[in-house]
Amino acid sequence: MLMGHCHLFPGGRGECRRDEFGIPGTSEHLNRFMKACGFDQANVLAPHEGPEALNVEARIEGDQDGLEWLLKQPFVGVEETSVFLPGAAIRPDLPNAEEKLARAIAAGVRVLKFHPLIMRSNPLDASCEPFFRKAAKARMPMVYHTGGGDWGWPTDHGRVGVCAELAGRYPGLPLLMAHCGVFGGVDEFEQAVSACESHPSLFLDATHAMLNVGKERWHWALERIGAGRVVYGNDYPWATVDSVSREVEFIESLGLSAEEHACILGDNLRALYLRARSAH
Ligand SMILES: [Zn+2]
Repeated sequence: MLMGHCHLFPGGRGECRRDEFGIPGTSEHLNRFMKACGFDQANVLAPHEGPEALNVEARIEGDQDGLEWLLKQPFVGVEETSVFLPGAAIRPDLPNAEEKLARAIAAGVRVLKFHPLIMRSNPLDASCEPFFRKAAKARMPMVYHTGGGDWGWPTDHGRVGVCAELAGRYPGLPLLMAHCGVFGGVDEFEQAVSACESHPSLFLDATHAMLNVGKERWHWALERIGAGRVVYGNDYPWATVDSVSREVEFIESLGLSAEEHACILGDNLRALYLRARSAH
């Protein structure tokens, strides 16, 4: 099973949060944590960079390159059999975005993370076009924060409607709508499902959006878009063995076939990973 949407960052959550697996947010910890949860692989996202990420825990200090750091961590590799499959967090509106993306592709990276509120970008702005065009050409799945959150940037950029607009502009770019539009006081779950119905390149990344969304709405969603469009993630290290087991039980309780179950718990993300054009 492949655990989606995990964060690693220098020093992790700190010595003060050490537990039986080590320090949460470090690769050694995630390796033990993931196994305790019954998973054998994880998709790990690079820490955020730059001054705008100052109030963010999953960040790298100064002008260091988050992806460069991530690729040096134990268990991280770009081969499909690697224990941790890396994702690059590149701010798309900066002049160096396309070049950073080219470097990530050359290194064999096949997943992207975009957080419009932390990165303080408007993804629909013309300055992002070269980046999105290149990402679409490489068919790299992009984990996209949807919903709100208090990062001092207009919540509108996290709206499901923006993902739908991007999906229309760049149909080759798989967008994994993290939190399914349900985050930080915003609830656009139904809109996220409808957007998936209209755009085959949209997926639901169910991070923080399983138990709080509930069985009834998930049944409704799965009837419409099927298990092939849902990816399990949990925002590690903001997850516990207990929260993961409750989420896995929740997925089991939805009455899916073994195959559909496996799709959500890793097969969908793996298929997107394999479909991305990599330099390796
Ligand atoms: Zn996250």
